[in-house]
Amino acid sequence: MLDLTYETPKPKVIAGATGDWELVIGLEVHAQVASKAKLFSGASTQFGAEPNSNVAFVDAAMPGMLPVINEFCVAQAVRTGLGLKAEINLTSAFDRKNYFYPDLPQGYQISQLYHPIVGEGEVLVDMGPGVARLVRIERIHLEQDAGKSIHDMDPHMSFVDLNRTGVALMEIVSRPDIRGPEEAAAYVVKLRQILRYLGTCDGNMQNGNLRADVNVSVCRPGDYEKYQESQDFAHLGTRCEIKNMNSMRFIQAAIEYEARRQIAILEDGGAIVQETRLYDPDKNETRSMRSKEEAHDYRYFPCPDLLPLEIEQGWVDDIQASLPELPDEKRTRFVADYGMTEYDAGVLTADVENATYFEEVARGRDGKLAANWVINELFGRLKKEDHDITESPVSAEQLGKIIGLISSDAISGKIAKDLFEIVYTEGGDPEEIVETRGMKQVTDTGAIEAAVDQIIADNPAQVEKAKENPKLAGWFVGQVMKATGGKANPKSVNEIVASKLGL
Ligand code: ADP
Ligand code: MG
Repeated sequence: MLDLTYETPKPKVIAGATGDWELVIGLEVHAQVASKAKLFSGASTQFGAEPNSNVAFVDAAMPGMLPVINEFCVAQAVRTGLGLKAEINLTSAFDRKNYFYPDLPQGYQISQLYHPIVGEGEVLVDMGPGVARLVRIERIHLEQDAGKSIHDMDPHMSFVDLNRTGVALMEIVSRPDIRGPEEAAAYVVKLRQILRYLGTCDGNMQNGNLRADVNVSVCRPGDYEKYQESQDFAHLGTRCEIKNMNSMRFIQAAIEYEARRQIAILEDGGAIVQETRLYDPDKNETRSMRSKEEAHDYRYFPCPDLLPLEIEQGWVDDIQASLPELPDEKRTRFVADYGMTEYDAGVLTADVENATYFEEVARGRDGKLAANWVINELFGRLKKEDHDITESPVSAEQLGKIIGLISSDAISGKIAKDLFEIVYTEGGDPEEIVETRGMKQVTDTGAIEAAVDQIIADNPAQVEKAKENPKLAGWFVGQVMKATGGKANPKSVNEIVASKLGL
């Protein structure tokens, strides 16, 4: 059913002093697993709790404590992998990545370097109707998050909050298939959308539940194609990694800055040093943080506290069977089922809540009309008050009734807008409101004819002009609509005015 015919966008090209340069980008996205408990302890993951209140002994690295794997977190990672059409590894294993941080009391992070739970997958990144980039996923592994050091509560001391220590993260590593700043942001948007559909990560970037390390390099036109053919990284430029980005806007600005910085160095005859950099949004620049560390710097070794993780194909199949309809499929189906444009389908499926709301409105009704009302009237009105669909004062049932009233010609489009405003601000049953407030459309041609006769009789001069210039009939239509409080059926009014004026 899924129509995968799309056009691939051109890579971003930056003109340098010595010729053109292209961008190559790969992302490592850290997505917090949506789960009530941590990866290796039963402590709560609740955001915003009193500092150090969600800490089990194992999270605080008390001597002799042992990690116990949370089955639900494993299921979430598998679910994510399946949602990204990825290979699921029935055997994976945990490794210790050793480093010191005040907010990492174990002195190591439990991660999966050698045997990740999820292998190769893909994300179709939408760049506009009919234009998309297929970005390959290299792997997804499970790992622990660290705690938080707080430096701004006291002038002399730093504090440590271990609530986040041990919370499950999925690290989703892309291949360097992204070719520009907009594509990088669109990739994060699409990934976030899929995770939210799957229910495996809430995607809240403000709370840091989704953050990205952005790898950027530049190359000459033609080099990327050589890499694609051979998968040999030697054809690509040396990359720098910009750490911990949690805003689509900053991701784009950082890539743009970083690419230009690298080009300037290369054109000056210099070489790029592989390193980790930080983006400063106030100055709009990236700064060196540390030189690139290699796996051996962390003394990775298999975690002796945890057995290899073995899962069964049957369990994976059950998870597969429980997957919801995903954004690409839903968008394609909306176009087919409701006859809407791909653009509108994209808007309506951006969030699963929007899509569900729309389908409730459209059920058994005119889908195109419903799409139009949800996008233009409802979303427009919600946006004015900075509300999202979950905060809509108009329920899907109410909006559905308004659309039903329009379709059955009970109310005109203009009255429908007034009705919508009443329901939005006052609530109530749309059908009842139309009855009690006398908003029903006048389709009785006798009543419309009477109103037209009256206007013609009162305005002989206008009648003469209209006979010479038929465009003036619109003036009569307007007058009739005014006289009937906007309730006359516009189609009937047009017809009757034309025939009475002899046009
Ligand atoms: P490491 O293990 O050193 O972090 P990886 O091979 O895992 O390196 O790559 C990390 C990320 O960097 C991946 O998302 C990958 O796509 C990206 N990447 C690798 N080489 C390049 C490059 N030349 N330019 C841009 N991104 C790259
Ligand atoms: Mg890496």
